[in-house]
Amino acid sequence: RPGLEIRGVTKSYANGYKALHGVDVHIPDRRLTTLLGPSGCGKTTLLRLVAGLDTPDEGQLIFHGEDVTSKSAEQRDLSLVFQSYALFPYQSVEENVCYGLRMQGLSAASQRERCAQALVLVGLQGLEDRMPHELSGGQQQRTALARALALQPRILLLDEPLSNLDSNLRRHIREDIRSLQQRLDLTVLYVTHDHAEAMSVSDRVVVMQEGRIAQIGSPRDLYERP
Ligand code: ADP
Ligand code: ADP
Repeated sequence: RPGLEIRGVTKSYANGYKALHGVDVHIPDRRLTTLLGPSGCGKTTLLRLVAGLDTPDEGQLIFHGEDVTSKSAEQRDLSLVFQSYALFPYQSVEENVCYGLRMQGLSAASQRERCAQALVLVGLQGLEDRMPHELSGGQQQRTALARALALQPRILLLDEPLSNLDSNLRRHIREDIRSLQQRLDLTVLYVTHDHAEAMSVSDRVVVMQEGRIAQIGSPRDLYERP
């Protein structure tokens, strides 16, 4: 089965707190799916398991029919953008965007080309030589997005990507993420606690509550059957 399947996933932390109680959900290909729920419900925990930054206690992660549960983050063909942009402060925009490409051993010329393409996608063309402190908050978040896109991943994971931005900028970047997802046919899993944001941006909303899936549907389904 295509897409990303999360099957029977549980996760407890070292202090014994059980953050996920058996999560089953299918994330379809080439759609934007949001993971929506209040702070503390387990969204980040689940995203980290999908990303391969942490391992589940039980359950499986199946990407495009392949079991990746014991595979590393690098082997999962995905990119992750965190809520804090996490740019390297002493590296230029270009060096930041090329970080993953360098790790992959791409030639300098290919890196530069991919960087330029990614910066066009996020509307930052020509800013290759800027340093992070010379960028606005929105430009920093777009740089983080460009870094993720430059890897040309099959799956893009976004953890509260707009939470550090003011509301005007939030709406702009949200619309840009949506149009990029549609143009590039990306599979996006988008974490947010903001109901309105989830409703405006997604094809499909997965509502979480206390470590469980509470509801799944299109934004329209969720409005009509609240
Ligand atoms: P968010 O804004 O995503 O809700 P949190 O403050 O919940 O951020 O989490 C920030 C970091 O602290 C995460 O890496 C998370 O794993 C860790 N963390 C959250 N809650 C706890 C906790 N009760 N004990 C230890 N670490 C925690
Ligand atoms: P969300 O992203 O929805 O805010 P998280 O996945 O960050 O939720 O956290 C889910 C629950 O697990 C919260 O109650 C949080 O306090 C707890 N938690 C997160 N990280 C840790 C950790 N490293 N150690 C202990 N508890 C944690």
